[in-house]
Amino acid sequence: MKPAPFEYRAPDSLAAALELAGEHGDDAKLLAGGQSLIPVMNFRLAQPAMLIDLNGVAELDFVRPGEDGTLRVGALTRMSRLERYAELPDYSPLLAEAIPWVAHPQIRNRSTFGGTLAHADPAAEAPAVCLADGARFKLAKRGGERWVAAGEFFRGLFETALEPDEILVEVELPAVGAGRGTSFQEIARRHGDYALAGVAASVRLAAGGAIASGRLVYLSVGDKPVDAAAAAAMLAGERPSAALFAAVAEHVAAHEIEPAGTIHATPEFTRHLVRVLTRRALAKAVERAAAEGSR
Ligand SMILES: Cc1cc2nc3c(=O)[nH]c(=O)nc-3n(C[C@H](O)[C@H](O)[C@H](O)COP(=O)(O)OP(=O)(O)OC[C@H]3O[C@@H](n4cnc5c(N)ncnc54)[C@H](O)[C@@H]3O)c2cc1C
Repeated sequence: MKPAPFEYRAPDSLAAALELAGEHGDDAKLLAGGQSLIPVMNFRLAQPAMLIDLNGVAELDFVRPGEDGTLRVGALTRMSRLERYAELPDYSPLLAEAIPWVAHPQIRNRSTFGGTLAHADPAAEAPAVCLADGARFKLAKRGGERWVAAGEFFRGLFETALEPDEILVEVELPAVGAGRGTSFQEIARRHGDYALAGVAASVRLAAGGAIASGRLVYLSVGDKPVDAAAAAAMLAGERPSAALFAAVAEHVAAHEIEPAGTIHATPEFTRHLVRVLTRRALAKAVERAAAEGSR
């Protein structure tokens, strides 16, 4: 299929891109890697009057350490560049573990970190990881910018806090902090397919070996990344054990997700996957936190 006719602009600076986005708002679409937008346009599910191609905006393509141990990533950074960034595991071990699950290498060569986040597919890995990490997003528009926490950014199915005239320009991943262990787990029908279910887990161990705090964020179980806060709170102050992990997993499956079901997974099968993935992720995260603490 071919897309409906559209006007094409290729600004070479962020200022020019913001100007176009401000002028055309809802009538325009931003083009990053095109790996989701172009198929959607070819199916005519989106028919923007104008495409604003961000690929010439070099100032959005960067990954570098920030202040206070943060990592700053420009929205146009390709997923493959982030994957090859050697220090990524020091800043976000979850993202480093999750990126190889995102589609296939050829797609990661084109798709961008910002495009993946702005697209807000509930089955995507990066949104769940950003929520689990407590990332912040910088959104810019003509004459202004604002920072939005990941928890505020993802609003629903393919829906974010971005206004029609705004561009996601930068992501800030916070410092990992001491004593933290993480694990990203996912099940897909074939490697590279979208996840049937997945989880980004992190735990922090206290000095005596009990769990100080934990966080569990799920993908592909609802219309946006799901932060299972009540289940994660069950971990605080407890000693790690298979029984504890099973109880937490059961709580998530029974009370914190409402999978709609797809042609590949009934709601009950999704709940089963969530139980299994939660137990695996917590065991691995605790093992890594303990290894971190003994260094
Ligand atoms: C076969 C296949 C398998 C895939 N499997 C997976 C998978 O397993 N996991 C996964 O996460 N993804 C998967 N994807 C999606 C892929 O990662 C996409 O590239 C990604 O979702 C969108 O990134 P993009 O840079 O290509 O954005 P585009 O397709 O260019 O844009 C996507 C949307 O985001 C908007 N946008 C882009 N950049 C910005 C910005 N800076 N500010 C505001 N809005 C912006 C666009 O206007 C558009 O609405 C798959 C894609 C394909 C084709």
